[in-house]
Amino acid sequence: MSGFANAPRHWLWRLLAVTVWAGMAAVSSVATWGFLSRTEETRHSSVCATNLRGLATALALYADDHDDVLPSLAAAAFGAGGAQTRSTWLTALMPYRDNHLPPPRCPSREVVGQLRYGASHPNCYGYAMNGYLMRQRIRGGQREYGGIPRTCIKHPALTVALCDARTGIIALRAPDAASDSVYGIYLRKFEADILTQTPGATRHYGGANYAFMDGHAEWHRARDFRRGSVSDGDRVGFGL
Ligand SMILES: [Zn+2]
Repeated sequence: MSGFANAPRHWLWRLLAVTVWAGMAAVSSVATWGFLSRTEETRHSSVCATNLRGLATALALYADDHDDVLPSLAAAAFGAGGAQTRSTWLTALMPYRDNHLPPPRCPSREVVGQLRYGASHPNCYGYAMNGYLMRQRIRGGQREYGGIPRTCIKHPALTVALCDARTGIIALRAPDAASDSVYGIYLRKFEADILTQTPGATRHYGGANYAFMDGHAEWHRARDFRRGSVSDGDRVGFGL
């Protein structure tokens, strides 16, 4: 008799327990997914920082081999249509990578629109060089960008060498945070696709990885950088 009277309460408790369990499972799976995606993003940023350190080492080896002068932005003329060449600072560094490995790619870069068809192009690997490390010269009526001597850099530990940037951008003079900071792009016809990407400066946890001229790499937010062509000897920046 008492068992019959308690039956509805028994089922109510069971229903409540199942509901709570389902809720906990849902919360747990969301938390697990969030944890896994954070772990993946941490791994991507770590791989990226290692890539940039390797490229900074290759940059130093290149300069050692070229009378202390850094590589050019692009091996051929850089005209109004963009860089009409596959040979840029990145391809110039390839002989100086360990075991002649191919160029490293930022694992978190985006490759969108027409750029997808050139995803194996070195300028689609998600890194750019500091544009202040090159000097413009006019040869045969066309602009060329030659690398500067390392002796021009007063504060190597504060001066950016290479950094995360949207695919299709070859060089920058500031963190890749806004469309107006785009300095050198790979073919003007890709400009719209370049501008649709998330800026490189917010690629990893709202910041990005930067390699400096002394060879070390650090994560920074865009606001950490001094703007302009001259270093203040205090803050990180692109200026010399
Ligand atoms: Zn990256």
